This record gives sequence, structure tokens and C-alpha cells, in this order.
Amino acid sequence: MRYEGSIYRPPSEADSYLLQVTVGCSHNQCTFCAMYKDKSYRIRDLEEIKADIQMAKACYGDLTDVFLCDGDAIAVDTPLLLEIAAELNKAFPSLSSISCYAGPRSTLNKSLEELRALRAAGIDKVYLGMETGDDRLLQAIRKGVTAAEMLQAGQNLVEAGFKLSVTVLLGLAGKGPRSREHAIHSAEMINAMRPRWLAALTLSLAPGTPLYREAQEGRFQLPDPFETLEEMRTLIEHLTADHLIFRSNHVSNYLTVKGELQKDRQKMLDQISQVLENRDRNALRREDMRGF
Ligand code: SF4
Repeated sequence: MRYEGSIYRPPSEADSYLLQVTVGCSHNQCTFCAMYKDKSYRIRDLEEIKADIQMAKACYGDLTDVFLCDGDAIAVDTPLLLEIAAELNKAFPSLSSISCYAGPRSTLNKSLEELRALRAAGIDKVYLGMETGDDRLLQAIRKGVTAAEMLQAGQNLVEAGFKLSVTVLLGLAGKGPRSREHAIHSAEMINAMRPRWLAALTLSLAPGTPLYREAQEGRFQLPDPFETLEEMRTLIEHLTADHLIFRSNHVSNYLTVKGELQKDRQKMLDQISQVLENRDRNALRREDMRGF
């Protein structure tokens, strides 16, 4: 398979065929993100994409799951995305899932009818990097949308019928009282958005990013591991949505917590509280084993 630059996918797409439909991220401005800084954003040529699909077919035969890369495939013009989905369905008779990342601004640039058409074409699962539900923090990290717009983007995806997975980034507000506000506002947004999955990731400072420079200049302080766990506990405490699958099993996290809300709420809170009580670093993922 041929790819341009580094390729990222959610952990749950480990078994999916990765089809690169864009190079980079259409937004590429978030202050904490270094993933696509080495790429200039462009949509790949349809003929190249079709050739890749034929290569995958020759190499793997029939496929069931496809993830569209890179950082924000929903930004691709709707007619082109529909054509890509049709090509995938034609090439792989057993195809059951096409998924991709969905940036909030790109999602809002599509009408509900367009989103519904994409869903009907077989794109069934989307990953929205919400990061936080806190309006001030969304502006500070240059996510490109307000909190109201982020919520609207998520609600549109749910209304169009997508299975929605959302990520929140622990540690993003730095040390201090803003950490709690970040957790509470994020929980409130999730309660209103009602995704199926919520993944908590933990911030690492990536060299070359604006946030890394802020930290170097003393304008941002990364919370310690236990402070990020306190943030996760506050987040879970304020989640009222039911049948929400929560997980912090990403390699960036210090502690893996998994369960379904509200069923496993107390079990998850007890697990975090116990680690916080003992302050045992051995219970956490080692710093050198973390990644993003
Ligand atoms: S939208 Fe996602 S991929 Fe793009 S810069 Fe922000 S965090 Fe990175």
C-alpha cells in the first residue's frame, strides 16, 4: 500500500484497511497537535484513490472495514466522498463499515442532507476530536469552533445517523482551577451531544507545537499524572448520559479505565479514587511507555 507521510488512525481501527483520501488535516491549527504539521493539506486525486482501492483488493481480497485517512476526511467534497464510498462498496462485497475523522468545522460545512447521504452510502462511524466542552479553552487551543458550534457539529452527526465517537483531551487546561472547568464543561457537552463512545486521551507536549512553546516560556504548565486522573474523575462524575461507552485505553493515558455509563460509573470512579488515594506511580503507565 502507498501512503504519503505519517498515518494516524484511532486504536479501534487497528484491523481496518487505511485508505488515504486526503493528505494532512484541513484545519491543522490546533496548538497541541503535531500530527500533520509536516504536510500541506490536499485532497488526493480520485484516480489515485481508485488505484489504491484496486491495489488493496489485489493484496487483501474482500475487506469488511475501511478507515479513511488523514486527519479530517469528512472535509472532502460530498460528491467525491460519495464516489469513494461507491467504489469501496463495489470493490469489497463484504464491506460493513467505512469510518473517518470528522473535524467540527468541516462537519458544519455540510448540510444535514449531505451528512445523511454519506451515511446512506456506507460511512457509518465518525471520530470527532472534541478535546473540550469549554468555550474559552476551545478558543485558546485554536480548534476553529466555539463550544456551541462544536456541540452542533456533534449533534448533526448523531442526527444524520452516524455512530459517533468523541475524544476529550485530559490536561489541556493546564494546572489549576481551569482543569475542573474543562472536565465539567466537557461532561456537559457530552451529555447534550450523546455520542456512543467517549475516549479520554491525555495531553503530551509535542515539540514544535505552539503549546510546547507556551510551556517552554512558562505560560502553560502540564498537570502531573495524578492531576489528570482527578480531571478524569470529575469528567465521569458529571456524565449523566446513559449507554455511553467510556474508555481511557489510549497509549497516552496513565491509567486504563473502561466501562459503560451509567452501569459501571461507580466501579470506574472507585478505580480512579483508589489510585489517587495511594499516589502509587507504579499503578500508572510509565512515562517512557506513553505516546500519542
Ligand atoms: S483538527 Fe485534529 S488533526 Fe487537525 S490540527 Fe486539530 S487535532 Fe490535529
